[in-house]
Amino acid sequence: MPTGYMTYVSTRGEDSGAFYSDIVLKGLAADGGLYVPREYPKLAPSKIWSWKELSYHELAFKIMKRFATDIDPYRLEVLLERTYRPDRFCNGRAGEDFSQITPVRFIDDGNIGVLELSNGPTLAFKDIAMQYLGALFEMLLTDQGKELNILGATSGDTGSAAEYALRGRKGVRVFMLSPKGRMSAFQRAQMYSLNDPNIYNIAVRGSFDDAQDIVKACSSDAGFKAMYNIGTVNSINWARISAQVVYYFKAWLAVSQSPVDEVDFAVPSGNFGNVLAGWIAKQMGLPVGRLVVATNENDVLHEFFTTGVYRVRDAEHTYATSSPSMDISKASNFERYIFDIVGRNPARVRELWTMVALNGGFELNEGERRKVAESGFVSARSTHQDRLKTIAELWQKERFMVDPHTADGIKAARECRRPGVQMVVLETALPAKFADTIREATGSGPEIPVTYADIETRPQKVTELDADAAAVKRFISEAIKA
Ligand SMILES: *Cc1c(COP(=O)(O)O)cnc(C)c1O
Repeated sequence: MPTGYMTYVSTRGEDSGAFYSDIVLKGLAADGGLYVPREYPKLAPSKIWSWKELSYHELAFKIMKRFATDIDPYRLEVLLERTYRPDRFCNGRAGEDFSQITPVRFIDDGNIGVLELSNGPTLAFKDIAMQYLGALFEMLLTDQGKELNILGATSGDTGSAAEYALRGRKGVRVFMLSPKGRMSAFQRAQMYSLNDPNIYNIAVRGSFDDAQDIVKACSSDAGFKAMYNIGTVNSINWARISAQVVYYFKAWLAVSQSPVDEVDFAVPSGNFGNVLAGWIAKQMGLPVGRLVVATNENDVLHEFFTTGVYRVRDAEHTYATSSPSMDISKASNFERYIFDIVGRNPARVRELWTMVALNGGFELNEGERRKVAESGFVSARSTHQDRLKTIAELWQKERFMVDPHTADGIKAARECRRPGVQMVVLETALPAKFADTIREATGSGPEIPVTYADIETRPQKVTELDADAAAVKRFISEAIKA
């Protein structure tokens, strides 16, 4: 292997040596772990500081070429330039300047910055990584002369971000299961109104968990998976994480006053992907101070960061809340952070996750708890009432409307803010997606971006199926043969 090439290892230690382009098209590592870089690329403060004037795509290239060393740099640069265009990330508030892609706006007299990440095609931060992933998939599949059929289940944001990133792309089809009648009218319309021939929406007569179980059943059927080239785009995909690292740099460069200025970040968290990207930016040398993990009533991570005890909840104890994209009790990317905390020792990771399987959780030892404290992670929890209060107050005082997830982040930011240190909250969606909660909080409906003005009246394309893996498999095989 030539020096200077980045390879990836599994957190469980039995699968290593893969390149970026190998792991992008795979999900979990062969040993059930998650892929991480063999070591994090390191950047000097003076180097980072010299990037202050770069555009978003130029900055993305500087960072991502260090992870994707096996992709031709010129092709990567062109791909990033085509992805991070202002005309693709301008869905938000009309009449503003979108040249920054992820601008920062300030609230609370400048004490808190809000990093706008939701101006992409589906109005949620997932677009930033997913739009890149879609372009990357197309490039790699074309190179390898392969086809990929993405199978997923969604309760809202992930499915639409994936469909908008992969619509019309060569070599890829998307089969997205959603629970019939359980999403908001806006979310349904957003997905079902796509009429691209490579997008298949399947409304399952059942719950989100039923849809998820069908995906698992199809993915664990090795014969079916191989025959139909089934893949996923879930949040453990390393390409997504690597693309999310970029906006921490962008935000830091926008608000810092000197090359050593610390900036704290508060991040509404579900599967721990978004905040993990901040941890990686910090490992690379970005002066990140605290990383504030914001949870809703599903507070597994808040419990962990306050007690050192990790205790997952079953489906029955995972509550449906008004920040639904954070209703998660087994954060899949958490294992990547723990891998670093235990000194990148895969035997210890295996031991801890065996305890999760057997006892539903684990408790870190004293040395590991100290590492967690030193890592800069803290946490805060919000309830429905907190959410309504934050949304109403910001609307009344500043005429700024935030979505329920971002509201959880703002509450956490206010609680954990340090004097003299700039705090930045990551905005995760626009309020247009969550009209009911916005109305409950403010008495008026959210602003709907012009591109979505008529969304609920457009014709919809969706196939309804029973919550039955065999029926879904039959649908997929017929669609591929057609
Ligand atoms: C996905 C999502 C989250 C959770 O992000 P993770 O990376 O899974 O922690 C929070 N808010 C919104 C609106 C989301 O779509």
